[in-house]
Amino acid sequence: MTSLHNRHIKPLILAGLDGKNWHLEDYVARGGYESLKRILNEKIPPEQVIAELKASSLRGRGGAGFPTGLKWSFMPRQFPGQKYLVCNTDEGEPGTFKDRDIIRYNPHALIEGMAIGAYAMGITVGYNYIHGEIFADYDRFEEALEEARAANMLGDKIAGSEFNFQLHAFHGYGAYICGEETALLESLEGKKGQPRFKPPFPASFGLYGKPTTINNTETFAAVPFVFAMGGEKYAALGKPNNGGTKIFSMSGDVAKPGNYEVPLGTPFATLLELAGGMRDGKKIKAVIPGGSSMPVLTGDVMMATDMDYDSIAKAGSMLGSGAVIVMDETRCMVKSLLRLSYFYFEESCGQCTPCREGTGWLYRMVHRIEHGHGRADDLDMLNSIADNIQGKTICALGDAAAMPVRAMIKNFREEFEYHIEHKHCLVPTYM
Ligand code: SF4
Repeated sequence: MTSLHNRHIKPLILAGLDGKNWHLEDYVARGGYESLKRILNEKIPPEQVIAELKASSLRGRGGAGFPTGLKWSFMPRQFPGQKYLVCNTDEGEPGTFKDRDIIRYNPHALIEGMAIGAYAMGITVGYNYIHGEIFADYDRFEEALEEARAANMLGDKIAGSEFNFQLHAFHGYGAYICGEETALLESLEGKKGQPRFKPPFPASFGLYGKPTTINNTETFAAVPFVFAMGGEKYAALGKPNNGGTKIFSMSGDVAKPGNYEVPLGTPFATLLELAGGMRDGKKIKAVIPGGSSMPVLTGDVMMATDMDYDSIAKAGSMLGSGAVIVMDETRCMVKSLLRLSYFYFEESCGQCTPCREGTGWLYRMVHRIEHGHGRADDLDMLNSIADNIQGKTICALGDAAAMPVRAMIKNFREEFEYHIEHKHCLVPTYM
């Protein structure tokens, strides 16, 4: 694992982790479960808990960046039947590997965050849906759950209060689409993991048709820190509207790939430096700043951009899950897009036509360009297919397949044109 030891940039979730100190006693020694106990012992009203979270400017760390406090306020607390809390640890986006580090190295932060959320929303049952392709981490989380139950941090009358919360782990099946929250719910119910039409949204019709709040692993894991330091202080770590710290999964052509937790608003150049800079001193060419479904940006643009939701949006992309894929000057953009297109083609659940058919068209067209059979009008055709997918599908996978295509052609058009005209790559390494 990678932890960040820097005098100026202090992590929260990843602070002081050495790979072995994940147990409950270690977490308690770091001040863990104090936030939950204080909320329960002082009987802080749920509305006040949600208000504190709103003050923190914590935004969803899974991709959409939706304000967490606002999302929690949507839960109808007085709903007479069962309500559910669900954590999305179905991390499958290429380039993203932060949530598995959280459940592997600091699982109790997630458990405490979920328990606080359950209290705030009046929920008594929760599930953590863990990606099906990670096994040891699933086992680790189960062990952590046992520890929390034994210490009365989960179960009935938590920490001597009247609050009950049962939390269970669920091992998924490894399909990327199950990271989409309604597909996740279908899968959790034992059905085929396919996204639902929305509305209704999970806040009113979620798991088993009951009100459900779903948050990402990192979002829940940040919650205890919000209450440990206070919402306003947490917000002040970042930038306005972009509160707190964020874990960035740095991969690609960097010297030290890994997870780095820094305050939101940290310049990309600083983050790159923390990751050891470019591997072998090569020049930066392109960066996908938020997971493979986000639009690619040129290296020059990224070097002048800060790592927060608003700055990345202003630069023309999205912060997404915080998976930063860095590409150096030897990378061929056509080949890179080919890999991405194949992924979305493979992972489409096939439920709606623009995505099922369009992802295949995109993949086959990029494939023929890469292999020297591109045609003069292929780039216009690619953009046209992307236009006919984006915004016209049941879930965001369609957008995820279309956006990289448009951004790659927009930012690196000459490389695609060269491939079509000369039947081979412009980048020397691939000639
Ligand atoms: Fe399935 Fe794609 Fe439609 Fe999403 S957009 S529901 S993945 S076919």
